[in-house]
Amino acid sequence: MVQDILKLQQKSAVLEPSPKDREDLMREVYRHSAEYLNNIGELPAYDIEKPISIPNTFDRIYSIKEVLKLIEQNIDRIGINPASPGHLGYIPGGGIYASALGDYLADISNKYAGLRYASPGAVVMENHLIDWTRKLINYPITALGNLTSGGSIANLIAIITARDARAISGEKINKSVIYLSGQTHHCIQKAIRIAGLNDCPIRYVGIDDQFRMDPVHLRKLVKQDIQNGAQPFMVIASCGSTDTGAVDQFDEIGFIAEEYNLWYHIDAAYGGYFMLCDPLKNIFKGIERSDSIVLDPHKTLFLPYGSGLVIIREGDKIHHSFKHTANYLQDVINDDSNISPADLSPELTKHFRGLRMWLPLMLYGQEVFSACLEEKHLLTKYFHQEIQKLGFEVGPLPQLSVAIYRYVPKEGDPNEFNTRLTKAIQQDGRIYISSTSINDIYWLRIAVVCFRTHLSNIQLYLSILKEKVSVLANTP
Ligand SMILES: *Cc1c(COP(=O)(O)O)cnc(C)c1O
Repeated sequence: MVQDILKLQQKSAVLEPSPKDREDLMREVYRHSAEYLNNIGELPAYDIEKPISIPNTFDRIYSIKEVLKLIEQNIDRIGINPASPGHLGYIPGGGIYASALGDYLADISNKYAGLRYASPGAVVMENHLIDWTRKLINYPITALGNLTSGGSIANLIAIITARDARAISGEKINKSVIYLSGQTHHCIQKAIRIAGLNDCPIRYVGIDDQFRMDPVHLRKLVKQDIQNGAQPFMVIASCGSTDTGAVDQFDEIGFIAEEYNLWYHIDAAYGGYFMLCDPLKNIFKGIERSDSIVLDPHKTLFLPYGSGLVIIREGDKIHHSFKHTANYLQDVINDDSNISPADLSPELTKHFRGLRMWLPLMLYGQEVFSACLEEKHLLTKYFHQEIQKLGFEVGPLPQLSVAIYRYVPKEGDPNEFNTRLTKAIQQDGRIYISSTSINDIYWLRIAVVCFRTHLSNIQLYLSILKEKVSVLANTP
């Protein structure tokens, strides 16, 4: 048996490369990523026209060079390129370099960040990041939170916590009303379903001309529900809606939530970190009145995908919903002063994702992030102003960094025209944008959230729009 063991050990030895092999691998990977980043401005923001060819069996081995070639051909250059400065389509964009290095370091030591006892340093680091965010939104020190894999899971954690805190189960579900707006992100409905609250009545509160939830209508709906014998349970506001970037009026909604004892959740996945920008502070007034909040560092802190964050104002509530025990974890010290990430999330083993957020904040400081976000805000306002000079109709003045706009041609169906315009821009590929429909009106949108997007990219996009509109207007 010893012979067999040693033979197998020998066979699997490549899993621990020699220092020289490590260096060779690293050099090739570094060369690949450097080439990618050095050319990021020239790579299309969108490119879908190529066939994919990725091996699906693992019975032969490849060199690192061959593997990187496969990645380049099949992944780097196909589809949407979120790292591109021309990516103005969806909200997450970027992936700052220091974060990639943070991931590298986290993966090398592979610290167990789920349990405090296993890696107190990793957990303290993640708690500092949550606490930094907590202070930003002015939650009390008793709040607790979790670094999640993204906004959807973070929203799910908040909704489950709300469900348990209000003991919404059994017969009560049918009568416990949830208030959303038409601008609420779809992951909220998904979370409601996963949390077993599908039978909660859902009311869609009307929106104002800036696409914000109308507090007057909210109050009216809540009163009506009480009169009809239902129990208002939860209101979910948006801090930066995906469609239009609208920020709801948190103070007004907060008053109503307090008066009627609603659980008040704010989905700030996109907009939350704009609170770092002093000139924008006003629009967030009252955010601290909420019971729970979600932010996405993989959006507005420009981190790579896989970084969300949830905070619950009364920390014991999230702890109550997610704390765990297991026989094989009996060595874990599990008193309340020693709360672990695994006590605040469905996850047990998890990526040590704090390091990718901590490293850039340490290297550059938070000022850089507020400057970068303010730049994106101003770029969007600049776009909103300039596009009107090209004869476009625009939506409301951008509150954050999303703008909607459309071209109304002299004749023909505007929706059809703008659909063709979107296609023409996507086919061009230098800039990637998306579209949305609000009350049957087709709008183009830009979301300026990639940290690499600067004035020249917006100006390029304006010139592309000008060119495409004139081509389309002259072709039936
Ligand atoms: C992106 C987004 C989500 C979903 O978050 P993921 O990180 O994609 O899971 C939820 N709400 C809003 C407002 C968002 O912008």
